Amino acid sequence: MSDEQKWLSDSGVNTRLCHIGHDPSSYHGFVNPPVVRASTVLFPQASGMETVTQKYTYGTRGTPTTDALCEAIDSLEGSAGTILLPSGLAAITVPFLAFLSPGDHALIVDSVYGPCRQFCDTMLKRLGVEVEYYDPLLGAGIEALMRPNTRLVHTESPGSNTFEMQDIRAISDVAHRHGAVVSMDNTWATPLYFRPLDFGVDISMHAATKYPAGHSDILMGTVSANAEHWPRLKEANGLMGLCGAPEDSYLVLRGLRTMGVRLAHHDRSARAVAEWLEQRADVSAVLHPALPSFPGHDIWKRDFKGASGIFSFVLAVDDPAKFKAKSHAFLDALRLFGLGWSWGGYECLAVPVNLNDRKIRKAPAGGPVIRLQIGLEDVADIMADLERGFAAAALVS
Ligand SMILES: *Cc1c(COP(=O)(O)O)cnc(C)c1O
Repeated sequence: MSDEQKWLSDSGVNTRLCHIGHDPSSYHGFVNPPVVRASTVLFPQASGMETVTQKYTYGTRGTPTTDALCEAIDSLEGSAGTILLPSGLAAITVPFLAFLSPGDHALIVDSVYGPCRQFCDTMLKRLGVEVEYYDPLLGAGIEALMRPNTRLVHTESPGSNTFEMQDIRAISDVAHRHGAVVSMDNTWATPLYFRPLDFGVDISMHAATKYPAGHSDILMGTVSANAEHWPRLKEANGLMGLCGAPEDSYLVLRGLRTMGVRLAHHDRSARAVAEWLEQRADVSAVLHPALPSFPGHDIWKRDFKGASGIFSFVLAVDDPAKFKAKSHAFLDALRLFGLGWSWGGYECLAVPVNLNDRKIRKAPAGGPVIRLQIGLEDVADIMADLERGFAAAALVS
């Protein structure tokens, strides 16, 4: 490690976010790296093409732009290597294909990102992988589900839409004792608030589409591996011909520069809104890990350094026949919140949550679930908009 790198690795997280990934002196002093567009890379001599001695060989195998982003992410994750993919979903499917083979058994958390389940139930099944969903609250109890052919344990904490917390360290320890690879979708926390590899995870996945990109205008996935699993992940990436696009890689690196301050703001505002919602009679539950009332709060407090801006609440509705009408009335009355998928951008978003595909952690009984992404708008305006939603829902009889 050079003196320069040592200075940086000892610095605070926002300092590191400002300086990791690209060294300006490596490119004429320009603060940001160049956007390198490339397929062909030239070699000075034929011999160099047979026994490769140069750093770059072909566009799909990395460029100075993609390297800058991968190095920044390795520094945040503490990983041996990172690959870039065209979406967050691909950041789940590609490592699954890298590590699973016909006849393997895979344990997938029941509160998993929905499209991951669809991939498991269709393509993995067709490839002869046996998929089993497990309760996110199992912790070390996952021991009972391990089989001789269990090859992968996939975690996501907090879970999508309902935010169940998993004891990642306990699960990793059991999985490793049985020779399984542990993967984690860490999109919610980002490596700023949780570092999966420090808790025993082998493969950390992110939808960089969310907070790293931060502006609702980029799709990208990243997968980071520890030293043991990096060669196989990198090989699979090369075999499948996947790579990060130049402009998108540049913009995600740019997004990282401000991710610390954006996340701190999202966190503060989301907690304020969650606490406010919790006091209301027209809300039956708030599903936010940073609230002391939330069942997984102790794990969150022990393992995480912060919370992101997305959580859900349960609108209090007695009659299940009215769940849909009340939820839609609430959502349709919002003006500041956009109705749209994804999150992690600068703006408030709301969606109705459908949990019909859950096998174990079913929908709460107290009413319809609504998910909110709290953006960078002012909290008073956010609350005023939600008041419009509650007023509209109350009018539905
Ligand atoms: C959004 C999301 C993804 C997928 O990201 P895309 O870039 O939209 O494909 C994966 N995991 C989680 C937890 C997500 O929220």
